[in-house]
Amino acid sequence: MSFFKDMISVFKKRELTFLERREESEGVHSFLFEKPQDVTWRAGQHGLFTITHKKVRNSTKPFTLSSAPAENIVQITTLIKDEPSEFKQALLELKHGMNIKMSGPVGSFHLKENRPAILIAGGIGITPYRSILKQLKAEGRYNEKQLNLLYMSNKMPYIFKEELGEMAENHVMNVKYVDSRDHLHEYIDKFITLYQNNGDYFVAGPKSMVDSISVDLRSKNISKRNITKDGFFGY
Ligand SMILES: Cc1cc2nc3c(=O)[nH]c(=O)nc-3n(C[C@H](O)[C@H](O)[C@H](O)COP(=O)(O)OP(=O)(O)OC[C@H]3O[C@@H](n4cnc5c(N)ncnc54)[C@H](O)[C@@H]3O)c2cc1C
Repeated sequence: MSFFKDMISVFKKRELTFLERREESEGVHSFLFEKPQDVTWRAGQHGLFTITHKKVRNSTKPFTLSSAPAENIVQITTLIKDEPSEFKQALLELKHGMNIKMSGPVGSFHLKENRPAILIAGGIGITPYRSILKQLKAEGRYNEKQLNLLYMSNKMPYIFKEELGEMAENHVMNVKYVDSRDHLHEYIDKFITLYQNNGDYFVAGPKSMVDSISVDLRSKNISKRNITKDGFFGY
């Protein structure tokens, strides 16, 4: 059912009106768009965004909606380096009232079952978790799931730190910041020892990192159906 819903959604492109850009930290920007009334999504899903105000190479790219449905806004968050791609340069040139197109949101990267979960983020891979955790907080679902956010970032600053801190204080989840692979694996192994296949494993971030963590989880007998991945290309 959700596959067919996704298929319909992919073919439906909607115009989104740009509102504003926020710099989350050096080089990391959030772009906020008005939410059309008929757009709905599950926290963690991504849309396909198309630049329309100028001609650019590779004009359509996937981005996770870093906003929660309850925030009533469409937000994407991305790292923009000194020599950005044409796509990201065009994002930087957006002015209030200009349009971009989006199809979706689609994808299976969202919480499914009410059971313990480890949410592993590498760098910009924090975007789906901001959405998921904000949505849980908006719904008042504190501590209902045993959620453990493991956030590794060694190439860019941690973002959304204040909001994540607030959610940890309110017992929406536990959060651990790590800056090395050894620490990351230490925490993952602790979770595996506690829950094995009675927990869910979410991994989001640069594709190479997502793939290597997934291989590691499989080698520790974590079943494929308990691993949900969002691998970002271009990092
Ligand atoms: C399901 C999914 C969700 C995603 N969600 C997110 C998200 O939330 N946030 C996010 O940031 N990304 C996300 N991505 C990845 C995103 O779609 C892009 O691939 C990524 O942001 C890289 O974009 P880019 O335009 O820099 O890429 P590319 O064009 O592939 O560029 C890659 C690198 O080359 C450099 N480069 C490109 N063109 C030039 C040029 N002309 N001159 C000099 N250097 C250049 C860029 O600086 C960059 O470092 C997601 C991907 C998937 C599949």
